[in-house]
Amino acid sequence: MADYILAIDQGTTSSRAIVFDKAGSIVSTGQLEHEQIFPKAGWVEHDPAEIWRNTGEVIGQALGKANLTRHDIAAVGITNQRETAVVWDKNTGEPVYNAIVWQDTRTQPIVDRLAADGGVERFKQQVGLPLATYFSGTKIVWILENVPGAREKAEAGDLLFGTTDTWVLWNLTGGVHGGVHATDVTNASRTMFMDLETLAWDDEILAAFGVPRSMLPEIKSSSEVYGIANEHSLLRETPISGILGDQQAATFGQAAFETGEAKNTYGTGNFLIFNTGEEIVHSKNGLLTTVGYKLGEQPVHYALEGSIAVTGSLIQWLRDNVGLISSAADIETLAKSVDDNGGAYFVPAFSGLFAPYWRPDARGALVGLTRFVNKGHIARAALEAIAFQTRDVIEAVNADAGVDLTELRVDGGATANDTLLQFQADILGVPVVRPVVAETTALGAAYAAGLAVGFWSSLDELRANWQEDKRWTPSMDEAERARLDRNWKKAVSKTLDWVD
Ligand code: ADP
Repeated sequence: MADYILAIDQGTTSSRAIVFDKAGSIVSTGQLEHEQIFPKAGWVEHDPAEIWRNTGEVIGQALGKANLTRHDIAAVGITNQRETAVVWDKNTGEPVYNAIVWQDTRTQPIVDRLAADGGVERFKQQVGLPLATYFSGTKIVWILENVPGAREKAEAGDLLFGTTDTWVLWNLTGGVHGGVHATDVTNASRTMFMDLETLAWDDEILAAFGVPRSMLPEIKSSSEVYGIANEHSLLRETPISGILGDQQAATFGQAAFETGEAKNTYGTGNFLIFNTGEEIVHSKNGLLTTVGYKLGEQPVHYALEGSIAVTGSLIQWLRDNVGLISSAADIETLAKSVDDNGGAYFVPAFSGLFAPYWRPDARGALVGLTRFVNKGHIARAALEAIAFQTRDVIEAVNADAGVDLTELRVDGGATANDTLLQFQADILGVPVVRPVVAETTALGAAYAAGLAVGFWSSLDELRANWQEDKRWTPSMDEAERARLDRNWKKAVSKTLDWVD
């Protein structure tokens, strides 16, 4: 068998292709950013054609850098930004509109309309999610209601919907020439349309949303052969055999396979996933219930999730919109120029607040300002905001689970920031641990793909690949921790009820 697995990581800011070897080590990487399109306040779009083009290019980069060909690749896994909705014409392969990104809040009126009958928790028992702009369901409705001719075409069976895993899979397996229209259970669990128990689309919910079933991909497990790459791809004839939404993939890549294991990813947003095993746990504290993974015919694993919309993107905002820094890494240098936050607290409620608050009416605030505060304090407050929001989510996880998390496994782009992770350990009061392979998202997708084709044989084999790189130990006293947390919660309260 070939020696490597290739993972495609179709993320929010970039698309990557990463080649892994049997030890789960990175052999080579290709990466391209795509344009973030902001047509109006609260709207965020991507060009699906650009994403697909970039996907092809990064595959070429990753293979080329390591002098590999398709014959060296045993299987392909896909992981993706979740909830981002693409709708395209199955006859032409052309998207009818840009991809509407998970952060986009334009569908709030559709959410309100659906919630008018039964409230935002109307479908929560079945799908594990409250009605919110975040999930793909209302984004599909927006396209059907606002793109001329879309509703008619959809009713005629000519339009297909997919999150970006599905978009990549369909194109990779041939597109208009017989592309496979499928997704996995983890991505399906973020639409608002999948029943968590049956793992099937729910016709009543689809009727309530007015979305034709014919648009939806087939729901498959996270680890099985979905199809083979078609003749136009560099990967032609290679099986595509793993799909996991990015956060579930990171959990899998962190080898958090068992009940009670958790990880937190620091990317554009932050996402904590807590494995609840074969049990569906409904949160009483503002967490989502979601699918963790499903390997072929084996039982499904569920999870609780704390999603935070704005963390790394706050650093991007300080770079791109404010010009406070010129690269994301500069935030740490600036933050280190001061000893503490100087009394400033930054609540980045740019898309409202997600977990555990779920307040679409919130907007961002920088509070506690005095003449003393300088840009170092603001940089520090921005990093602390990432850690405080994570603490809020972990408080909710501890309350739902009835036991306290004793250690936090972390990954993602912002875990390059030492100051952030030390403050995270301090404000949580538990150690924070980063693995050697920080690209856990791509690794998780590679694992799912490799398991399906026998490249890896068991979860134990994968667990043995996990190695600790660095550990941050808390050094803050309890009184200080409590004081900071009290101020943070006061700052959060100032952001609520902003939008009328
Ligand atoms: P995604 O998969 O969501 O695109 P990544 O895991 O690649 O995200 O992480 C990128 C995010 O991490 C960006 O939002 C960026 O601002 C942030 N980031 C990168 N380096 C740092 C750093 N040194 N300190 C803080 N944030 C950082």
